[in-house]
Amino acid sequence: MRFVRYQTKEKAPHYGWLLEDKIGDIEGDLFGEFRRLDATLPREEATLLAPCEPSKIICVGRNYAAHAKEHNAEVPEIPLIFLKPPSTIINPNDPIILPPQSEQVEHEGELVVVIGKRGRNILAEDAKEHILGYTIGNDVTARDLQRADRLWTRGKGFDTFAPFGPWIDTDFDPSDAVLTCRVNGQMRQMASTRDMVFSVGTIIAFISSVMTLEPGDLIFTGTPAGVGPLTAGDEVTVDIEGLGVLKNPVKEA
Ligand code: ZN
Repeated sequence: MRFVRYQTKEKAPHYGWLLEDKIGDIEGDLFGEFRRLDATLPREEATLLAPCEPSKIICVGRNYAAHAKEHNAEVPEIPLIFLKPPSTIINPNDPIILPPQSEQVEHEGELVVVIGKRGRNILAEDAKEHILGYTIGNDVTARDLQRADRLWTRGKGFDTFAPFGPWIDTDFDPSDAVLTCRVNGQMRQMASTRDMVFSVGTIIAFISSVMTLEPGDLIFTGTPAGVGPLTAGDEVTVDIEGLGVLKNPVKEA
C-alpha cells in the first residue's frame, strides 16, 4: 500500500492512501489504528506533501563503498550516523534553496526508511516489525561547509535540504532496487541498494542502540557514488525502481 499526505484548496493537510490515480482518506492514526475510506479524490486535484512528520531524521554516511572512495574516505567499520533537523524537510516539487554561505551544494539521492513502531535496542532480525515502509529522499549537502567544519550539522542542516516523498510504500523490497539520480535529465548517480555496506536491519539495530526510534522517524540510508553540484534553475530527480520518483527544482536564496 502507498500512504500519502496531501492538501487541496479546501482541505488542510491530511493522511491518505493511493489507489491507482485516486486518493482515499485515512481516518484515525496512521501509526496505530486507522480505517481507509474510499479512494475518490483524483490525484491531480491534490498537492502531495512530504508523506509524514518525523520527530528526527537520522542519516547514514558512507554506506556505499564507491561513494566513500570518491571522497577518499574509508568505509566505516560501524555505521556512521548524523542528524538533519526536521526544518530541512520540503515537499516533493518544492524548491531546494541554495544558501548564500555555500559555493558547492550537492545532491545525494537515497532510499529512506520510515519507522512505524517505537523501539529501542531493536534486533536486526526484528527490524521489519518497526518499519512502516519506504520512501525516496535527497540528502542535500553543502559540501564545502561539510568539509570546512569538523561536524556536519551546518553542511547538512540548511532549510530545504531534506526533500522526501512522494509517498510511503509499505510493500517495497529494499534488498536490490536500482536508484538513479538525474539533474536536468542527465544521469549523475546509479547503483543498486544491494551495494549498501550496512543493511537496513543492521542500521536500525545500530541507531536504536543509541536513541529511541519514534513512529514517523526517517532513516536516510546513504548515497551511492556520483554526487555532484546543483545550480539555480536545475531540476533534480531521484528515482527508485518499484518505489517512485522524487522531483525538486533548485533556486537561489
Ligand atoms: Zn547522505
